[in-house]
Amino acid sequence: MAAERLDGREVARSVTRELAETLTTLPFKPQLVVVRVGEDPASVAYVRGKDRTATQLGLTSRVEVLGESTTQRELLARVLEISADPEVDGILVQDPLPPPLDIRAVQEAIDPAKDVDGFHPVNVGRLWNGGRALVPCTPAGLIRIMDFYGLEIAGKRVVIVGRSSLVGKPAAVLFLQRDATVTVAHSKTRSLGTLTREADILVAAVGRHALLTREMVKPGAVVLDVGINRVEGKLRGDVHPEVTEVAGYLTPVPGGVGPMTVAMLMQNTVMAASRRRGDGGA
Ligand code: NAD
Repeated sequence: MAAERLDGREVARSVTRELAETLTTLPFKPQLVVVRVGEDPASVAYVRGKDRTATQLGLTSRVEVLGESTTQRELLARVLEISADPEVDGILVQDPLPPPLDIRAVQEAIDPAKDVDGFHPVNVGRLWNGGRALVPCTPAGLIRIMDFYGLEIAGKRVVIVGRSSLVGKPAAVLFLQRDATVTVAHSKTRSLGTLTREADILVAAVGRHALLTREMVKPGAVVLDVGINRVEGKLRGDVHPEVTEVAGYLTPVPGGVGPMTVAMLMQNTVMAASRRRGDGGA
């Protein structure tokens, strides 16, 4: 029997519906600024998607495009300028940047109260301390999918494959905060399949198509496939298609985790705006 499909598009719609309602109660229109440097085709598409969703939702959205030859100093100066603009509620700089630009320094230049990607060290620290953080969008989306479908997290064994600061590490904290027992696996993990077979909830965030095969999945498990891989012109996840025959629940690629990332970015922008304009704190 095929696993139940966890439809990220549907969950994302419910998030944006809620946000649209919240927006009607706010006396201001939150503003998001997305900075893109250069013309990387994937970045162009991602930024367009964020801008379109923000505009459709009723936010003020602006995309600032800087040339491929922008220097680190110029980029930092521009980010500081945008970040200091009182009309701007959320700012993000699309990764990857053209080399040799350093994304970390740029992320650290953003006001933590406007850091809607949740990558500033202040937000990372608050997340780990259980404080009031802006949380990275993709991991936040995973939790939202679990909650939308009423899937239990507390007490469950969660295995996250991938330890990036973008997905794996923040996802580990979020599942831990929800009382799961969390293991993070990575490229040097031994006997990956033995480990993943113990997971009630398995998160794949590697970037290798079909790395996780059906033998590596516990029957009935919830499988959240974050991977985005281009295979013969199509988008595919990190999970082998046969996993649907053993898993209990599975996010498809496309249409699973991806739409949630943009929805959670919208949520972070509205939250950042409400906190900053409402009570002055991040
Ligand atoms: P990354 O390259 O920063 O990290 C990959 C991780 O996988 C590393 O921690 C590495 O140790 C681990 N890894 C590599 N090979 C492995 C192996 N053989 N076994 C176990 N672990 C291994 O990638 P990332 O930024 O975390 O992204 C991961 C994937 O998720 C990519 O496909 C990316 O495109 C996708 N992604 C999707 C969304 C979304 O919205 N759906 C958002 C972010 C990233």
